[in-house]
Amino acid sequence: MSDIYFGTSTSLNRVSFLRSDSKFVSSLISGTGTTRLTFYVQGDKNDVAPVLVDTEGKSKLLVVELASLPAHLIAVLEQWAERNDQSSVDVREEITAVFLGLDETGAERPHLFSSNPLDSQLRVFGNSAKGITRHRYNGYEGVAYLAVDITRSQQLKDYLFAGSASDGAKAYPGHSMMSILGFEYNEAALFGYGKTYLDWLMRNQRCPGCGSVVIPQDAGTRLYCTSGPDQSCPVKRTSVNNVCFPRSDPVVIIGVVSADGSKTLLGHNRRHAADPVTGVRMFSTIAGFMEPGETIEEASIREIWEETGCKASAVKIINSQPWPFPASLMIGCVAEVEFNGVNEVINIEHDKEMEEVKWIDTALIKDITESEDLTGKDGTEAEKIRLPFRQSIAYSLISKIAHGE
Ligand SMILES: [Zn+2]
Repeated sequence: MSDIYFGTSTSLNRVSFLRSDSKFVSSLISGTGTTRLTFYVQGDKNDVAPVLVDTEGKSKLLVVELASLPAHLIAVLEQWAERNDQSSVDVREEITAVFLGLDETGAERPHLFSSNPLDSQLRVFGNSAKGITRHRYNGYEGVAYLAVDITRSQQLKDYLFAGSASDGAKAYPGHSMMSILGFEYNEAALFGYGKTYLDWLMRNQRCPGCGSVVIPQDAGTRLYCTSGPDQSCPVKRTSVNNVCFPRSDPVVIIGVVSADGSKTLLGHNRRHAADPVTGVRMFSTIAGFMEPGETIEEASIREIWEETGCKASAVKIINSQPWPFPASLMIGCVAEVEFNGVNEVINIEHDKEMEEVKWIDTALIKDITESEDLTGKDGTEAEKIRLPFRQSIAYSLISKIAHGE
């Protein structure tokens, strides 16, 4: 598996079947094993932002060992674990927490992904002098990771933002996308995983079927409707449903290339402003949400036609990327357009999402991928064209096409 930003496989095993075992979840807080916490606060864009720390000239995700917190803050986590165990309606009164998994690095019997140690790219604060102690439970072992939304906990915010948990280094809510895109791959994967759950929990306070209060259960990974037996709740009565669990919204994202590979289709979306000084505009792949009742291939062909007027065929699924803003799963595809005087004709008047769409020589795009600033050279047809940032799946698709992969 290749690294993909927000989706890199690490040594973190989600052990998802243990989330519903509240004895296990409680042991992560009150047991002797090492538990590490990441923190989030609700941001100005109605989502949750990670708590970051500036250290060694970089913005890093703040990761703190639970045991290093003062007793009154450990008590906040203990209360959460107790209420999680009781399925109490007050479970998120002060914090909202989600159990993310066990880091199996160094475990006697790692079950998954052991070759890429999660913590190799993290900056962990509060390490005890004794090193780590793995939690051990029913044959599973590792260092536990939790994501915690501290928006309502003034005492946790006071402590963390004063730098008390991070050796005095400044901790702050990371609202800037640029800070997040500076994460290492493992760090980005841990961040995106926690953020998607906490965003979902923040947005879902009441049952969509009946309006009753919902309770996070299973260490924050599902929501339970509190309606009584005499209330008719269409969510609760359905044996299979998708509203009690977090959603991932599938998005097709497609690199479009001529059948002979010589031309690549890129578009500039109206939503992205040109650089006010240089006039450089970002040109990227075609993307759109999948709709009910269509395959990935059909959705790709539909989106290409709606946004560019071109008629594609031969769609291949290449890779995928979780995109935690807030909950997309990008499905990366490459589609070919057979040039015949009709299929390749550009028409941006269908859904008017694009300001401009162009067929560009694939060789020129290859040159751009090899340039520092990802911008086309003046005097070429790629002049004032910038490719999307390297961490995006759009870039990876464009690069694969350009390099004939
Ligand atoms: Zn309900």
